[in-house]
Amino acid sequence: MQEIDIVIIGAGVIGLAVSHYLSSGSAKDIVVVEKNSSFGQETSSRNSEVIHAGIYYPRDSLKAKTSIRGKHLLYELCSECGIPHKRIGKLLVASDNESAGKLETIYGNALECGVKSLRFLEKEETRELEPDIKAESVLFSPDSGIIDSHSLMKFLYQSAKQRKVDFAFSVEVIGINRNKDFYEVAAREPGGDIFSFRTGAVVNCAGLNSDGIAEMVGMDAEKHRYRIHYCKGQYFRISDPGRFSINHLIYPPPTELGLGIHITPDLAGGLRVGPDAKYVAEIDYDIDEKDKEIFCDSVRKFLPGLRQEDMIPDTAGIRPRLKGERDGFRDFIIRNESEQGFPNFVNLIGIDSPGLTSCLAIAELVVKELRISQLNNGGGHG
Ligand SMILES: Cc1cc2nc3c(=O)[nH]c(=O)nc-3n(C[C@H](O)[C@H](O)[C@H](O)COP(=O)(O)OP(=O)(O)OC[C@H]3O[C@@H](n4cnc5c(N)ncnc54)[C@H](O)[C@@H]3O)c2cc1C
Repeated sequence: MQEIDIVIIGAGVIGLAVSHYLSSGSAKDIVVVEKNSSFGQETSSRNSEVIHAGIYYPRDSLKAKTSIRGKHLLYELCSECGIPHKRIGKLLVASDNESAGKLETIYGNALECGVKSLRFLEKEETRELEPDIKAESVLFSPDSGIIDSHSLMKFLYQSAKQRKVDFAFSVEVIGINRNKDFYEVAAREPGGDIFSFRTGAVVNCAGLNSDGIAEMVGMDAEKHRYRIHYCKGQYFRISDPGRFSINHLIYPPPTELGLGIHITPDLAGGLRVGPDAKYVAEIDYDIDEKDKEIFCDSVRKFLPGLRQEDMIPDTAGIRPRLKGERDGFRDFIIRNESEQGFPNFVNLIGIDSPGLTSCLAIAELVVKELRISQLNNGGGHG
């Protein structure tokens, strides 16, 4: 039976970042197994492509820490390696007293988290920066930006490949057994054939299926609160972006369910509005045209010139959420499950937003979680 040191399940931006970081250290024999025919076909290519500043999440949460560290690492990597991105800045806009209060809370939270670059704008300044935007109060985040997520993933993929990481595309992991001191992984090939291999370490980066992968090895997803809920986000595109002068990311204050329907300029000069946030039972990426009215009404609060006829259906993505519809905040889970009897089985579960921003910082944490020296001393081969 084939033996490898580390298997990474999933080639979204998280699995790719982990493969990039692990292969730059002393780990050998790394294989990424991906059920689709290429990398980044799921949530990682269906998002807002925003580099977040890390201002919304409770201090000391993994979401706060990895997004704040992740944005620095991402800007650095993008600048060094020519990955298209732009630090365009974000305006958080409040159109009434209640939402103005929310901006104060975000400002306070950002300071607690160590993000000191936010500031409130004077009305005149807002008019100069964004003449088409109407707002009572505006909080400016200069470090927010946009990134070409496909170019980022392509870079991470190519760099890992150059460092001898193997990618097994169109191969689905269907079973994992813990044996004495290794894992036996069963996988299905495109033709339906099933094969198995042994590995000393598993990194679960399976996104929407990450709770299922934890269950395969024998973990109880309900007991550990690992169950993923699907939370869909749809986008509409502004068909003639030249009608508006939008130079920054424009966000309302966040709601209980998401960051609010915002306006996102892309690197090609386009403008998208979205995403909304709806819990769904099945994965489907269709856009419900009937929702256009809700989107339009919500954006018109700060972009009064928008009309429904300006908007055409674009894409949708599904957030892999730990937080159910009525739950409070849930953090990322990034955990070596050795205490549960699964050493060097690292679960990454509930990596919803800001997972793209955080990907490099998450990969750093995974390297720390894995006891690489044990693997290289033969611990992975039984
Ligand atoms: C609407 C929306 C907007 C968002 N906006 C932002 C944003 O602006 N900024 C930000 O920072 N984050 C954002 N996010 C979050 C970000 O997109 C995710 O956190 C990130 O893409 C998660 O990456 P991933 O690699 O974990 O998941 P995925 O990209 O879903 O990758 C998981 C991979 O695992 C594979 N897989 C699953 N099961 C198996 C198996 N059994 N065998 C083999 N392979 C398997 C899948 O095929 C898939 O390719 C947004 C998300 C959504 C949905």
